[in-house]
Amino acid sequence: MTGRGFRLAAHAATDQGLVREANEDSYFVGHSVFAVADGMGGHVAGEVASRKALEPIADLDSRQFPAPQKAQDALVEAITAANTAVVEKGDAEPELHGMGTTLTAVLVRDGRLHLAHVGDSRAYLLRDREPISQLTTDHTLVEQLVREGRLSREQAATHPQRSVVTRAIGVERQVKVDSLPPIELQPGDQVLLCSDGLTGPVDDRRITELLDSEPDGDAACQALVDEANSAGGPDNITVVLLRVEGSAPGAAGGGEDGRQRPEGDGETTGRLTSATRIRTREDSASTDDWAERMGRYGKTQGAEGTSLPTGRRTGRRTGIGRFAAIALGVVVLLALLGGGGYGLLSRAYFVGELDGQVTVFNGIPQTVAGLRLHWERESTDITTASLPEFRADRLREGVPAGSLTEAREIVERYREFAEDEQGTDPSDDPSPTPQFGQSPAPTGTPTP
Ligand code: CA
Repeated sequence: MTGRGFRLAAHAATDQGLVREANEDSYFVGHSVFAVADGMGGHVAGEVASRKALEPIADLDSRQFPAPQKAQDALVEAITAANTAVVEKGDAEPELHGMGTTLTAVLVRDGRLHLAHVGDSRAYLLRDREPISQLTTDHTLVEQLVREGRLSREQAATHPQRSVVTRAIGVERQVKVDSLPPIELQPGDQVLLCSDGLTGPVDDRRITELLDSEPDGDAACQALVDEANSAGGPDNITVVLLRVEGSAPGAAGGGEDGRQRPEGDGETTGRLTSATRIRTREDSASTDDWAERMGRYGKTQGAEGTSLPTGRRTGRRTGIGRFAAIALGVVVLLALLGGGGYGLLSRAYFVGELDGQVTVFNGIPQTVAGLRLHWERESTDITTASLPEFRADRLREGVPAGSLTEAREIVERYREFAEDEQGTDPSDDPSPTPQFGQSPAPTGTPTP
């Protein structure tokens, strides 16, 4: 199948890991096309996204291409089609709204490896006596920060926000697909596609050791999964391994007929029938559960910063400008700590404090490598000094809101808190003019 007188053996494994409540990863192993997709969106939605994205990829498996460029173009087109399919499914089914997935796919034709991808699922090439090479570039915020010299490679590898991806399938109608010039495969080459459930907990050196020391491909895949799980299994783990063997031409190995339907693990179908998504952390108050409260995806405000709200402080805007420069109009998905949910910054709101004023923000109250993941949306005339101290403290942590409307409602609640506080403070100037729409206190009511 691969031409050039060698045979391609394909192996795969997927595992839920030890922390997540479902496996949202999917993979495809065909004759000449192979892919990994890491779904996001929580429970059913993530699984649906990753499977849906594999459909156009699977369709490529039966096609012939007259020239390398045609194969390359078809691979990129299939990923673009996957994006459209996931976006449309998400739009059509409210319970799936906001789902997304990574997609890393390879096509082997005439001894060449074609590769295209979106997101942070990686492809590696392991070639005799050379260090393992990461073929893909992670579409993550930390990768961008590394490229700008703001984080070291080592810091990025362990950064708590390393799962913040800057591109994904299914989030926006347009997606930029990265592809590589074709790579001439050689006997002995190993190509590994994997989700970040492997590359998060297991470093490149260890991946190399395991692949080099295990001659059986299926066992090698299982060893990678086991290694991730023995490191805590914090995420779903999926690996697809291609080994270029000998010189006998033939079709890809990979068991049975060498083809599998797009799938996650065997339990996926059962989980898909359960319509209830949501709530991964039963014990957390819903207002503090970002996975619940935020739209799971969104795009950053304008690439040039033109649609960013104007702040009063230029210092603050510098931060925003930097954010816009880094994000460059791409999608920023926020991996929610521990929950596996993702949020879209521009669809996330919270009420917090800016310069002593109660303020509505877009984003989340967090900072990555000095980069604020929020920006001022609306200012108010309420000072935090007018609030009871515990209310002010709560506000400084950020009070999440599911929408701008809800954020404004929260502001009104804080306005009442401020008014109540001032009403009980005898030192306050009893202004005769009602402030903030407050009714005048009834006359003749003695205040103790
Ligand atoms: Ca993942």
